[in-house]
Amino acid sequence: MSKRTCDQAVEKIYYFLDGEITWYRRLRINWHLRSCPPCEGAFQFESKLRSVVREKSAEEIPDELIERLRRVLRDETN
Ligand SMILES: [Zn+2]
Repeated sequence: MSKRTCDQAVEKIYYFLDGEITWYRRLRINWHLRSCPPCEGAFQFESKLRSVVREKSAEEIPDELIERLRRVLRDETN
């Protein structure tokens, strides 16, 4: 799996979770996630992070912490 494909997939994960994406792109990302464990992990992480953020009020989780979590995840998958 090329790095470029992964970068694109990870980039689109946010849109994917927000639902701001076409069905065709959704399909392509789904396909990529199934064949790429690191991206699948990133997706699971981001999806979980969002449900935690949704449960608590936005003020309870600083953007800084979320950014830090994302950076940790990126380092792990690289
Ligand atoms: Zn990937």
